[in-house]
Amino acid sequence: MRVSKLFMSTQREVPSDAEIVSHQLMLRAGLMRKAAAGIYSYMPMGYRAYRKVEAIVREEMDRAGAQELIMPAVLPAETYMASGRWEKFGPEMFRLKDRGGRQFCLGPTHEEPFTEAVRDTIRSYRNLPVTLYQIQHKYRDEKRPRFGVVRSREFVMKDAYSFDVDEAGLDKSYLNMKEAYCKIFDRCDLDYILVDADSGAMGGSGSQEFMVKSAVGEDAIAYCPACDYAANEEKAPCPKVEAPKDFEMLPMEKIETPHVKTIEELMEFMHSEPTAFAKTILYNIDGKIVAVMVRGDREINETKLGNLFDATEMNLASFEEVERVTGAAVGFAGPCGLKEKIEVIADYEVAAMTNFIVGANETDFHFKNVNIGRDFTPDRIVDVRGAVEGDPCPKCGKPMSMCRGIEVGHIFKLGTKYSDALHCVYLDKDGKENSMIMGCYGIGVSRTLAAIIEQHYDENGIIWPMSVAPYQVIVVPTTSQDEAVVKMAGEIHDALEKAGAEVLIDDREERAGVKFKDADLIGIPVRITVGRKAAEGKVEYKLRAGSEVVEMTAEEAIAAALKEIETAKK
Ligand SMILES: [Zn+2]
Repeated sequence: MRVSKLFMSTQREVPSDAEIVSHQLMLRAGLMRKAAAGIYSYMPMGYRAYRKVEAIVREEMDRAGAQELIMPAVLPAETYMASGRWEKFGPEMFRLKDRGGRQFCLGPTHEEPFTEAVRDTIRSYRNLPVTLYQIQHKYRDEKRPRFGVVRSREFVMKDAYSFDVDEAGLDKSYLNMKEAYCKIFDRCDLDYILVDADSGAMGGSGSQEFMVKSAVGEDAIAYCPACDYAANEEKAPCPKVEAPKDFEMLPMEKIETPHVKTIEELMEFMHSEPTAFAKTILYNIDGKIVAVMVRGDREINETKLGNLFDATEMNLASFEEVERVTGAAVGFAGPCGLKEKIEVIADYEVAAMTNFIVGANETDFHFKNVNIGRDFTPDRIVDVRGAVEGDPCPKCGKPMSMCRGIEVGHIFKLGTKYSDALHCVYLDKDGKENSMIMGCYGIGVSRTLAAIIEQHYDENGIIWPMSVAPYQVIVVPTTSQDEAVVKMAGEIHDALEKAGAEVLIDDREERAGVKFKDADLIGIPVRITVGRKAAEGKVEYKLRAGSEVVEMTAEEAIAAALKEIETAKK
């Protein structure tokens, strides 16, 4: 393919609205164009890379025995009504009406139509298990689409659904998908971790996420470098802490702390470490005010807190609520002397603190030398903080590390949530009706493409892994004036293409420097430069991932490029 004919435009400037590297590079390298917030078109170069990812996903799904089909993107409301998700999705669901006033949506996820299809097709245990999948556009009207295709409103997902007769069958289907996912992400050259996840809105029990490590990831992950344990911050359990047995309980004192509201101000005022304080934060959980205590250097994890109360609606208490319950301005709440009887929840760590500092429920005052049992008694002592660096691994006890990640895949054991709601049943050996046991398995295909870039780039641009590169080799003649150069570049291009490689030749009337910059930006794995030494039969061979430039003959360069492509397949 000639670069002069490519439908592509690269840009030197970093687009102002692109916050993360993959988004910036996808726009700069001309891989995609923005149509609206969170909605993108793929240009030929981007679409080639995208299709490589899609092909890897398809190959591994097929190899795992899953069968591909395709559902519509426009779906009738009734499909989502039986499961209750027509309401539950809320404003995230794109809704539309046809000319007759009938309601539809753009599919946000396809559990319901797959369940209906299986319900209407399969009757007997003899036809189970079955795993079906599609690679389809999905639509979610995100409140804040951002990061390019990482969080977009239209995106491509591979979604698969397994149907089994029992839990043991589901376990097997789940494991099968998990193994296929590992192969897919390995082939995409991604450094990922598999984490235990909160199943959130999907319901069901048992779910894991494939997270690509990235500083810009939206999820915080605790993982153990010593064993394979990893979990989302809100899923990683924090350990109980033993209270010291022998210590001197000092008399509780009220101290004046004028205008001292934050932990930082308090630390400075009291000349103490944050570990000497317990913060008390008030929440309104489903209409009830609750006081939640964590050590001064910790954060409350709201997912853990919400789960403790099985909360539907949870907010920080309003200023008025805080003043009503504590009798003080915001910033001075504490467990002793609350004006109203409310539930007080203490984190495990707080329960092990001694002679500590809390708010006095009086503006500009704190208590010091507070002790549990003598000065107050929490209603519950629970795990309510997020995991942090150094917390012991729940599996092996070694200190855990924290990182951020982009979720590229998610596997769930759904159980019978959808089969019950949509009456998806089979007849067993005895002719008895049973609900099918379901699993569902997603991969964000467009997001995977962005995640690959997040892990493969340098200051000059993208460094595509060979497996997903839009083209594998770029031949760069440094001039179009020298006949020997032009001829040799053409011959190398033709020979590589004949051997099955995907090759670009930069035949533009541009300076060599411009061509190199573009080749680096679009990230083609192998570059063969044909210049002054063409007359001697010599070219320069360079890998995008390395810095070494090697002089060799044209034949050697062709052989080296083909070998590079071949090696990447293994
Ligand atoms: Zn461990």
